[in-house]
Amino acid sequence: MARYTGAVCRLCRREGLKLFLKGERCYTDKCAIERRNYPPGQHGQARPKFSEYSIQLREKQKLRRIYGILEGQFRRYFQMADRAKGVTGETLLQLLERRLDNMVYRMGFATSRSEARQLVRHGHFSVNGRKVNVPSFLLKTGDQVAVTERSRKVTRIQEALDLAQRRGVPDWLEVTPDTFSARVKSIPARSDLTMPINEKLVVELYSK
Ligand code: SF4
Repeated sequence: MARYTGAVCRLCRREGLKLFLKGERCYTDKCAIERRNYPPGQHGQARPKFSEYSIQLREKQKLRRIYGILEGQFRRYFQMADRAKGVTGETLLQLLERRLDNMVYRMGFATSRSEARQLVRHGHFSVNGRKVNVPSFLLKTGDQVAVTERSRKVTRIQEALDLAQRRGVPDWLEVTPDTFSARVKSIPARSDLTMPINEKLVVELYSK
């Protein structure tokens, strides 16, 4: 399965925003955005020129990078959102949120989406009692996600859970740390998602 394997802090610097791609490090002063908040590369500190297209493109890249999705798959999500009823931008965000790797991260079983993706690939989770190792698996309201019995001793999962309990989990999820399980109470509405994303720009970009 293809994924981005380059330096992730460069992605945050490119977008000029914390994308929280590195787990615990993102909350410390070692974060590259705290130290060098300008785009990477030789011309990083040059004065940028923004066209309408470049603004839309940056917004799309930002969203794609937050969820760790490559271009082809991201475009497929857009097509699914475009065909569905409702507001396309909002549906796109909801599709991305419903991914199993994202939910595992939101539930606090991993400290970043990339870690969640790896844990899912390694078969540490079940959905409604059945083992699922596909990070793009889409969850729905009422689904139950659990750490498999043999994986409950995995230190990364235990540490991530401890951290998440201190930081809190979103209202649309119900996490039971004692049983290493969580339930999707509802699919988040746009107002529940606080990321600084203007999804309308993404829709405009793909609608050209
Ligand atoms: Fe982004 Fe985290 Fe790196 Fe900071 S530490 S630049 S938030 S990935």
